[in-house]
Amino acid sequence: SDLPPETAALVARRQRSFGPTSVLFYDRPLHVVSADGVWLQEADGKRYLDVYNNVPSVGHCNPRVAAAVAKQVATLNIHTRYLYDVVHTYAERLLATFPEGLDKVAFTCTGSESNDLALRIATAATGKRGFVVTEMAYHGNTTAVTDVSPSSRPGQPLAPHVRAIPAPFGPGDVAGRFAADLEAAIADLEASGHGFAGLLVDTIFSSDGVAADPAGFLAPAVEATRRAGGLFIADEVQPGFGRTGAAMWGFQRHSVTPDVVTMGKPMGNGIPIGGVVARLDLMQRFAASVGYFNTFGGNPVASAAALAVLQEIEERGLVANAADVGGYMLARLKALGQRHGEIGEARGAGLYLGVEFVADGAPAPEIASYVINALRGRRILIGAAGRYGNVLKIRPPLIFERAHADMLVEALDDALASR
Ligand code: PMP
Repeated sequence: SDLPPETAALVARRQRSFGPTSVLFYDRPLHVVSADGVWLQEADGKRYLDVYNNVPSVGHCNPRVAAAVAKQVATLNIHTRYLYDVVHTYAERLLATFPEGLDKVAFTCTGSESNDLALRIATAATGKRGFVVTEMAYHGNTTAVTDVSPSSRPGQPLAPHVRAIPAPFGPGDVAGRFAADLEAAIADLEASGHGFAGLLVDTIFSSDGVAADPAGFLAPAVEATRRAGGLFIADEVQPGFGRTGAAMWGFQRHSVTPDVVTMGKPMGNGIPIGGVVARLDLMQRFAASVGYFNTFGGNPVASAAALAVLQEIEERGLVANAADVGGYMLARLKALGQRHGEIGEARGAGLYLGVEFVADGAPAPEIASYVINALRGRRILIGAAGRYGNVLKIRPPLIFERAHADMLVEALDDALASR
């Protein structure tokens, strides 16, 4: 191949050690050596604008997070069965961002563990095992969570206790259609004998291809969930921590209050930490049957990182920045859609945007993959999502600026013009 020798050697070593579980981006994988803010640096010195990674939400190698981690790791890092201060300061600061009632937290290490725990909480609370999710949902990698992640099981039948409904895309009565589909799925679960434990959705529907509008469309589905005795579990792994620009949590855009909220990814800016927030009565029902212990969940170093992330979001006004830069970028992308017929729609909220590509009125994943590679050639990293893989997924670090948005829009314009 024409890979640089160092990169080719790493690919070979990776294949020898990892075998088939190795998953890399691009035919010519990126060999990264350092990062800073919104930039990733390759071994050969090339610098890439990062429009893909929502984990380093307060910026790659954020100095405040790095300092907090360095100090804590040199002071105390231990499993989570002793008392230490930082996890409590963090828990209080985190819970203060939630609506009243959502006032108990359990820490984990990943979004998958958080969703796994949420499923167990819902089953303990309702005595039922059935869940409703969206058709292309991804909620994580444990056995139980893979069952509620249809995107991880392409072409396979759903698990018997799971029903998948179409994600809430327009046009028309998005809210009404979504609630009606949910009610039919609940009826089916009840008829099957599994019963209904809850609705689990990512409130920005990222793997379904980004569904954001109209804000509020979740409310009738949440009401239907409660009427049927189920819990509403908001997976905030993607939209949480300010990304949608409207508020700290994606569900707040829809003016609904979940029973259980799960989080991960950006929570520690790359240091593994996740969490589940729920009402006391739900935590009690779960804990009455089994306890929950997570060796590393919220350990001192993870807590110190997460606390620094929250301070950065709050003190640097990053929720407002997501609204400002995201709104600006969305307007520019919509304008681009006027000039490039391949753009079917530009949509999203804050710094979570999707650009849908179509050809002759049909989804065009080949244009999305062309664009992903063309942008990589223009030193921009980006990915795609959705049932057909035709939706460009824009979710850069929250410190993204208008000038960065300009770089992306202009490179996209150029890439589409030279296709
Ligand atoms: N939920 C959603 C919506 C996700 O996007 C992901 C990860 N892509 C997860 C859960 C799982 O998180 P993790 O990979 O940290 O286990």
